[in-house]
Amino acid sequence: MTALVSPAKIGFVGLGNMGRPMVARLAAAGYELHVADKDASLATDFAAVHGGRTAPSLAALAGAVEAVITMLPDGKVVREVLLGRNGLAEGLSPGSIVLDMSSSDPVGTRELGATLRAKNIDLVDAPVSGGVPRARDGSLSTMVGGDDAATARVRPILETMAKHVFLTGALGTGHAMKALNNLVSAGGLWIASEALLVGQRFGLAPERIVDILNASTGRNNSTENKFKQHILSRSFASGFSLGLMAKDLRVAADLAAVTGQPSPMTRLCAQLWSEAEGKLGGAQDHTAVIKVLEEDDGDGSAHRELVHKALGSEA
Ligand code: NAD
Repeated sequence: MTALVSPAKIGFVGLGNMGRPMVARLAAAGYELHVADKDASLATDFAAVHGGRTAPSLAALAGAVEAVITMLPDGKVVREVLLGRNGLAEGLSPGSIVLDMSSSDPVGTRELGATLRAKNIDLVDAPVSGGVPRARDGSLSTMVGGDDAATARVRPILETMAKHVFLTGALGTGHAMKALNNLVSAGGLWIASEALLVGQRFGLAPERIVDILNASTGRNNSTENKFKQHILSRSFASGFSLGLMAKDLRVAADLAAVTGQPSPMTRLCAQLWSEAEGKLGGAQDHTAVIKVLEEDDGDGSAHRELVHKALGSEA
C-alpha cells in the first residue's frame, strides 16, 4: 500500500474548532478534500473558501476517497458516523483507511478496529495535542496507534498537520495516551486554580502567584499558557470546551479501571471535572472551570460539597 501523499483523495468529517484549521492545512498542501459536518454550513463554508467538495451523505463521501479522517467530539460519535445507516463504512472500499484524530476512548477504538478489519478497512488512532493555535500553524503533537503498514500510509497526512508524530504501538494506544495526557493537564489546571485562590485569600497578588509558579517547581502547562492568557484576563477563550475535557477525564478513569491500576486521584479528577461540567455547562471553555471554586460562598462549603459528592460516588 502506498503512502497517502498529496494530492490523494481524503475525506474529513468534523469541522469544529480543531477540524477546520487541521483540514485547512491539508487543503494548502494540495490534497483533494471531501468534507462533512453535522452542521452542513460548516462544510459548504469550508468548500467555498478552500475548494474542497461536499457530498450528499457520509457513504457517498467515503465512496470518493482513499482515506477518511474523523475529528469528532468522542468515540461514540466516531462509531455512529462510521457504522450508522448511510455511514462511512457503507461507502469505503476494501483497502481504504480511517484515521481517527478525535480524542476517543481506546477500548471502543479497538472494538471499532476489529469491526472495520472484517470489512478489510484499516483504522489508525492519532489524537492530537496543542489546541487551536498549534492546529493552525501545523505544529500539533500526535500520538499514533495502529499497525506499521497502516501508520506508514497515513504518515504524510499526519506530518502536514503535526510537528511531532509519536508512534505509540498497537491500535488504541494513541487514544489511551491522549486521555492520560489530558488527565495530567487537567489535574495541573485544577490544583493551580486552588493554589491561586488560596494565595489570593491570604493576600498574594494573582499575577505574582503565576509569575512565581512559572519560575519555580510548581509550574505546568496551565500556569504557563492558560492562567494569565485565559483565566486572569477573564477571556476564557482557549478553544477547548469544558465538556470535552470532562469527557477525556472519564476516558482516563475508565482506562484506569480497565487496567486495574489503583488511581484515586484520577477518579477524583474525573469526578470533579464532571461535577463542574454539570454546574457550568459543557459548552464553556475548560479554563472557566475555576468559576466553580470562585463561586464558593466564602467558607469553602460549595467546594467541600463538590469533593464530597466526588468521593461519595467512588465509594
Ligand atoms: P468541536 O465541538 O468544536 O467540533 C466537533 C465537530 O463535530 C462539530 O463541528 C460538530 O458539528 C461535529 N459533529 C458532531 N457530531 C457529528 C456527527 N454525528 N456527524 C458529523 N459531524 C459531527 O470540537 P473540537 O474542539 O474541534 O474537538 C474535536 C476533537 O478533538 C474532540 O475529541 C476533542 O476532545 C479533541 N481535541 C480538542 C482540542 C481543542 O483544543 N479544541 C485539542 C485537542 C483535541
